[in-house]
Amino acid sequence: MSFPSEFLDEIRNRIALVDLISRRVKLKKRGREHEGLCPFHNEKTPSFTVSEAKGFFHCFGCGAHGDAIGWVMKIEGLSFPEAVEKLAGQAGLAIPERSPEQQEAARRRAGLLEVLEAAAQWFESELAGSGGAGARGYLERRGVRPETRAAFRLGFAPDRRGALRLGLNAKGVDDSQLAEAGLIKAVEGEGTPRGLLLQPADLPDHRSARPGHRLRRPGARRVQGQVPELARDAAVSQGAGALQPCPGAPGGA
Ligand code: ZN
Repeated sequence: MSFPSEFLDEIRNRIALVDLISRRVKLKKRGREHEGLCPFHNEKTPSFTVSEAKGFFHCFGCGAHGDAIGWVMKIEGLSFPEAVEKLAGQAGLAIPERSPEQQEAARRRAGLLEVLEAAAQWFESELAGSGGAGARGYLERRGVRPETRAAFRLGFAPDRRGALRLGLNAKGVDDSQLAEAGLIKAVEGEGTPRGLLLQPADLPDHRSARPGHRLRRPGARRVQGQVPELARDAAVSQGAGALQPCPGAPGGA
């Protein structure tokens, strides 16, 4: 089951993230954020941060990242719908009823998100593979560490025409799905980004991503799939997807 995005936003607005996480992790205020020992990896000095204002937690050690829903999923081992239902209960919100049309739209959206997630994974694997050596070298020179690369899910679009299409076809994603998700047009059509680093733009529920940003370089250009259903998310993602500097990684922005 999926949920209307307004409903998910309402949950995020009502749940105080610092309070929620404080039940499991001892947090200390530091500047505008809170920090503590990461519950997802072993550490002696805190690299786990919680930003109430931005509405997410992030670990600079292991890359764990998410909003209130992602937190409950990860810490309690729940599925997305289970975590939503749990938080809705805490926030005093009833799960919305959906019309058949809304259910169909939600199914379609979920399918698109799966395709975008597959694309994000493919770009990541290209960056990690032999063809991504040059891009990895560029990131190293910019002071972007491998864990930061993983945390922001950076990927690489190789300089081969049709590469994404072939890669995703092999994973069972057909051309019509690629076109519907805006990937063929955005990534392989006119003005195709090739030989570029990409960062997926997070969608609000952190379940998926599309090729969204590339690292800033002279002449940088955003790449965005054209998917009307996801347009609202795209607007959100423009803020959320920006690379943020990582402590200890000079020039890592
Ligand atoms: Zn961690």
